[in-house]
Parts: sequence; C-alpha cells; structure tokens
Amino acid sequence: MVATRKATAESKYIYDFAEGNKDLRDLLGGKGANLAEMTNLGLPVPPGFTITTEACQAYLATGAAPDGLADQITGYLTALEDKMGKRLGDPADPLLVSVRSGAKFSMPGMMETVLNVGLNDASVTGLAAQAGGNDRFAWDSYRRLIQMFGKTVCEVPGEEFEHALDEAKRAKGTTNDLDLDADDLRGLVDAYKKIFSKHTGREFPQEPREQLDLTVNAVFDSWNADRAVLYRRQERIPTDLGTAVNVVAMVFGNLGPDSGTGVAFTRDPASGAQGIYGDYLANAQGEDVVAGIRNTVPLQQLEELDKRSYDELLGIMSRLEEHYRDLCDIEFTIERGKLWMLQTRVGKRTAAAAFVIAAQLVDEGIIDLDEALHRVNGAQLAQLMFPRFDGDHTQELVARGIGASPGAAVGKVVFTGARAVELAAQGEQVILVRRETNPDDLPGMIAAQGILTSRGGKTSHAAVVARGMGKTCVCGADDLDVNVREKRILVRGQTVTEGDVVSIDGTTGNIYLGEVPVCPSEVVRYFEGELSPQEATDPLVAAVHRIMTHADGLRRLRVRTNADTGADAARARRFGAEGIGLCRTEHMFLGDRRELVEKLILARTEADRSAALAALLPLQRADFVEIFREMDGLPVTVRLIDPPLHEFLPPLEELAVNVAVAQERGEDVAKEEALLSAVRRMHEQNPMLGLRGVRLGLVIPGLFAMQVRAIVEAAVECARDGRVAKPEIMVPLVGAVQELETVRAEAEKIIAEVVGDSGVEVLIGTMIEVPRAALTAGQIAEAAQFFSFGTNDLTQMGWGFSRDDVEGAFFWRYLELGIFGISPFESIDVDGVGRLIRIAAQEGRAARPGLKLGICGEHGGDPESVHFFHEVGLDYVSCSPFRVPVARLEAGRAMAESVGSDSR
Ligand code: PEP
Ligand code: MG
Repeated sequence: MVATRKATAESKYIYDFAEGNKDLRDLLGGKGANLAEMTNLGLPVPPGFTITTEACQAYLATGAAPDGLADQITGYLTALEDKMGKRLGDPADPLLVSVRSGAKFSMPGMMETVLNVGLNDASVTGLAAQAGGNDRFAWDSYRRLIQMFGKTVCEVPGEEFEHALDEAKRAKGTTNDLDLDADDLRGLVDAYKKIFSKHTGREFPQEPREQLDLTVNAVFDSWNADRAVLYRRQERIPTDLGTAVNVVAMVFGNLGPDSGTGVAFTRDPASGAQGIYGDYLANAQGEDVVAGIRNTVPLQQLEELDKRSYDELLGIMSRLEEHYRDLCDIEFTIERGKLWMLQTRVGKRTAAAAFVIAAQLVDEGIIDLDEALHRVNGAQLAQLMFPRFDGDHTQELVARGIGASPGAAVGKVVFTGARAVELAAQGEQVILVRRETNPDDLPGMIAAQGILTSRGGKTSHAAVVARGMGKTCVCGADDLDVNVREKRILVRGQTVTEGDVVSIDGTTGNIYLGEVPVCPSEVVRYFEGELSPQEATDPLVAAVHRIMTHADGLRRLRVRTNADTGADAARARRFGAEGIGLCRTEHMFLGDRRELVEKLILARTEADRSAALAALLPLQRADFVEIFREMDGLPVTVRLIDPPLHEFLPPLEELAVNVAVAQERGEDVAKEEALLSAVRRMHEQNPMLGLRGVRLGLVIPGLFAMQVRAIVEAAVECARDGRVAKPEIMVPLVGAVQELETVRAEAEKIIAEVVGDSGVEVLIGTMIEVPRAALTAGQIAEAAQFFSFGTNDLTQMGWGFSRDDVEGAFFWRYLELGIFGISPFESIDVDGVGRLIRIAAQEGRAARPGLKLGICGEHGGDPESVHFFHEVGLDYVSCSPFRVPVARLEAGRAMAESVGSDSR
C-alpha cells in the first residue's frame, strides 16, 4: 500500500518500496532502488520506504531538513505502521525500524546505519513480551540502539561502549557476547545510558520520532564524514550526489538459535567460480557479520541449520542473478525460521572474477560479447598484470587466512593506519595488520601494499574495501594473535613485531615470514605468448583471451607503444602493439653517450661539433636498426631529440663547487673553468620551457640532420635485409609552422639523398604539445603528414603546471577542493586540454584531409582518456608496453559504447 500524500506542489522526497525500481539509483540510492526492485519481484523484503538523495542534497545545502519532509515521513510512517499492524513507540507492541544509508554508488561501511529505532524504556518490555518473553533479546536490541545511536548520531566515542561491553563479559567470565543474559544486558543498557549522557549532556531520547528524525539527519551528515569524502576521492565518486535513507521495518536475526543473519554471493567474488559463497552467523544482527566481530560459518552450513530457509535463499539467489544478469550479493536475515531479504546489488568483485564471470555469462547465453566488454575495464586488466608470488621459494608459511583480494604484497608490518601512512610517505612498502579494520583505517589501507586481518570473512570490512581498491588482502587469519597496542603478532610460537617483513598472497590466503620473490602473472604470460589460452588451466586466461579478441575485432583506435629499445619494442609487439608511436631518442643519449652529447652541446668550434656528431651517427643508426627490425612492417615514429638541457649538462652548482675547491688546492682548473662558463652560459631558470625540442634542433647545426640520416640509413639497411621499416620522423615542441618548415626542408634533402631506390617511405610530422600549435593546427598541418599529441607537455603548458614539481606541492589541495577529481597528468582534462586536442584535430584535418592523428603522452594508456581519444577521432593511442593491452581493451569498450549509444 502506498501512503496517501498531501496534494501539494512540494517535492516528493519519499518513495515506498513498492513505488521504486532498480533504475532509480540516482534518486533512491543503490540500496533503496534494489529493495524496491526485490519488493516488486515479490521477494520477502520487510516493508519500508526510502528518503531520496534529493532530500539529502537539500539538507546538506541548507543544514536543515527541507520543507515538507517531516510531513512526508509522518505519512509514510503511518502507512508502514498500518501495514505492520504495530505503532512506533507502542509500549505493548512497538514497531522498530532500521535506518540505513544508501548512496548511488556503494560505499561499504563509509556511512551510517542505526538499528532498532523506536525502542525506549517502556517499549523494551513490550518487545520482550512480543518475542515470547525473550527478555535477553529485547535488552540486547536496546543496548545496540543506544550504542549505534550514540556513536552515529551524537558522536559518542564508540570505544566507550565497547569497553563497557568487554567489562560486562569480563564480569561474567566470558568472551562471547551470547553468554550475557537479560540481567547483564539490562545492566549494560544502564551503563550505556550513563556513557550517553556523560558525552551529550542529555538523557537518551525516549521519543521514538525524535530518534528517527535525528538518525535521518545523521545519515545525511555522514555523506560528508572524512572517511566518506576520502573514499569518494579514491573511487572517483562525485561529491554532490548525497545519500538516500532507507527506513525499514526491523526483522531480527538475534531472536535465538533459529534466527541469524548472513551475506551471500551468487558466484565467488574473488575468482568468479560458480557455487555458493557466503557467511552466516546465527543469533546475530547484520552488523556483526560485516564488522567481523564473531567468526561466521560458511553459508553451506545453513543447510543443516535451517534447510527450508537455505533452499528458499538458493532459489532467490538464482532468480536475482537471472533478473540482474550478473553476480549479485545479498544480505539476509532469518527471523525464527522466516527468511527476509535486506539488500541486494550487483556485487563488487575482483578483477579476475570480473573477466571470468563476464565470459561465463556469455557462455550461459545471458549476455553477449559487447555486454561482456562493459562488464570489465582496463583498470582491472592492469591489476591482473601485476606479478604474483613465485611458487619455488623457501620462505616459511606461518599461517593461512582467507584470500579476500588477490595479488602478492610484500612489506613491513605496521599496526595502525597512521604508521602505514607515515612509512609509505617515506617510500616504504608496508602491510597493515589489524584484528579487523573499520572505516577509520581507510587512509592506512590506501597507503599499504596489502592488508592482513585476523578476523572476519570475505565480506568483512577489510575484504570489501580492499577488493574495491584492488589491494591485496588476506583476512580472517585466526592463527594470528594480533596485539595492536604492543605492536606484535604471536603466531605459532613466533613473534612478529613492527618492521618485520611479511608476504601475503591475496589469492590463496597464505602468509609468509620474510620476502617472497614475485613472478609475472598468468595474464602477462598469455600476452607474452608463453601460455596459449587452450593450454591454460586458469579460466582467467581463457576469459581474457575471449574478451580481448572481441575488443580487438571491434575497436577503431589503433594501439601503438612508446618504446626506445629493441627489447621494449619486442615486448610491446607481443602485447599487441601495432607500431611505435613515440621513440624518445634522447633516451639513447644517456649512459656512456652522455659525454658525446655534452661535447656536442658545448662545442664552440665547427670541428668539435662535427666530431661529436660523427661519433653519434653510427650509434644512433644501430639503435634504429634494432627497433625497425623488431617492428618489421609496422610504423615507427621516431621523435627527434627533446631533452630539457639540464638533463645533459653537469649540474651547475656542483661544477662551481668542484672548481672552487680545486682552485683552492692550487690545481690547474683551466679545462673545468671553460666547462663551467659554458654551462653557466646555457643555464636556464625554466629548462622545461627552454632550449628543448625543435629549438635545440634549430640552434645546434647538424644535430637533427644527423638523426634524420641515422633513421633513414637504418631503414634502408633493414630494407636491404628484406624487412619493411616505416619510419615517421616527428619534430617535438613545435609552436609555429615555420619551425617545422625549417626542419622539414633540411630533412627532405637528406631523405631524398639516402633513400635512393630502397623503396623506403618516410613521413614527416610533428608533436602537438604547445598550446599555440594546437591553436594554429590548420597552418601546421600544411607542413605535417601527421600529428601526435604530446599530452604531457600540453597539460603542463595548458594548465601552467610544472610537470616535475606540481604533484607533491599543491595537487592534494586541488583534489581536496574538488578542482579536479584526478591529476590532469594522469587522466586527460577533457574540458581544457581536451578542447585544444579537439580544435587541433578538426582544424588539422580541415587543412589536410586524412591527416594521421595520434597521442603519445601518458594519457594514451589511461582507460578514461582512451574513450576521449576515440570520441575525438584519433587514429591511434600510444602508451608504454604494459599498458598496450589496457588500451586495446578500452578502445574496444569505447567502440562498443559509441555503437551502443548510436543505436539507442
Ligand atoms: C608529451 O609531452 O606528452 C610527450 C610525449 O613528450 P615528453 O613526455 O617526452 O615530453
Ligand atoms: Mg613532450
């Protein structure tokens, strides 16, 4: 039944579960939308209603509940009371409700829930009577309300309640809260009330409606709690969505041994394997499972405990999976043998499970391959390419927990989030070890390599959050006796203290003392061609192969690589690179050759310069031969040298000090003084904006000519060996067409001279990495056969942020203020830098139809940026070898998305 609402023009802030559906996540949050969906599917959902995210947004904007909300709550509450045949606050037979947050995107444990709202000194006895004289249950429910309400709504420190509970257990001589009887719990309620009034200066509110209103506001406020803000930043969730609030009639899992609560997955969220996965805890309320307060039993054991509920649950699970066409996770409660569904959603999963499940669903005919592409992403693929532990090692396996989030993590043990953050800031790798984690540990979890807990199952806070972050996690390792205060772990007679190194395997749950060597992932071995999908025993490899093959068949964007050695080129080719989009030649001038470059830059006579160039030519040629060989038949964009000068000259200050010291000692310093004065002459305040790129080529005669000659000679040499070299010579840092024309005129002469009848074709193009180049792209295209966007410099110069300095200095503040959600050096700034790219692409192609366009900045391997480059019509992206598969996948996904949206 739907509540009758006043016919006014005011906004509708509340939806009964029967009024919503799963597509209303923006308004009802994920939890509310799915409760509505399950209600409409006829599943056993306790009745309730959802207060919308719009109400939350209005509350957060003004600091007060919006007009009309209180009346709407009254209307819906009355309807709920009618439906349940109970009244909130009725001393004889009270209706109790849970108040649960639920934002559009799941933020596990980040926001607040209060259970048993509506209980007070009078109704606690009514509740006991209604529960068949179960006083213990009623007083336990009441103490939970005071605890949750106190902590959540009134900011009473949670530990105070926990200490009082520990104290009650100690007095009883037990460690199990189930041993506390009604009298103990009544005493605990008194203790809790005292704690409450000590911290709040008032009595615990007895008026149920006041409890409800204050709790709703507290849930709204929890949207802006520090940990929620941090989580959103980490997960790139927009800051202004707000949370919905679900008010649900209470059902009780703590009514005795025939009651309980649990969490279930329709497939294994860690591996994707089909089966029944979940945890069950008898005689408990939901929070006990998620918090890992008592150890749960595997869901299968429910079959023995309550076969009827178990069978019903399995039936609902398969129905939900069919309905959502995906892995679902579920929270349920059994109240005296009656099953209730408290939540479902499309479940979070590890990267491996995402691929495996997508492929399984294709096999099962539930989704097609285009849809499978939507179900995975490049960030997940990147995670799967992380190394894992080498099977042949001798480190001691000290314990085994539950592999909750895969990966291989090695680091020093720390026991607090703060210490994890501190050591990580010093560049240390750490493993955060806790008995269980809670949302306050989030900064430490982000800073750590991996997370290890001694309690809690696959659905504990540690497990859920770690999986969401793609961080290695082993939980529930109950052989570990973790003592956070004394900073030590006792395990099988051994003591591990802070700073000791451990290795944890998030797939198997194994925990080793010391550092275990790591080896490449199966997925990397597959990309390397060492493992064929047919031979692989791991279903993951077959799933990756299938989805990648589809992405490759679909995508329009080509994927090249950034490589400047033969080895990198070869690896990238194995990973599917379709050419080199950026060969940075300055990298070939480091090491032994640095001296030659120094001589070239500092040469004062024509003879010195020519000698340096002549020495460099054969070295360069050999470099290119190696790369062209590896890339036989594929295009190779070679960028002419672009070093910020300071990288090639001895540091000025060091040189000055050496000269001064040598002079003092009376040594002959004539040579060093000459070098010093030359370095002084060339010294720049802003080398990144100085004599780099094309400017260097125009200033140092013969430098670019030598490189062009080396490139073309190498290509001709390869052609003579029967290979096909396709060089594309790229001029860096061009801002004006005249720069390019000058370089091009000289290059064309050399090309004509060297190519002869070899059949080698050479293109000449430019990077677009200076904003002026983007804005004059029409002119520049007249002289360029291709453009490649250098988005690192384009971002640097577009924003005016020094790419070398900026990240540590002030980006944190920009992120905090939400000026951007992620560094623009990591993911392309679509509105600003992206606009420059769009203009350059359009004007370049208008001037030269068919102009080849690529991108070779770091953004080429960033999943989100790849979608932008697809949309803007580039021909290819180029990225580091390890990112090539990621870009291939994302290019396929971008195509699937644009085809999907065209046909909609
Ligand atoms: C760029 O600026 O994006 C680029 C690829 O060049 P580099 O990073 O070498 O300056
Ligand atoms: Mg650049």
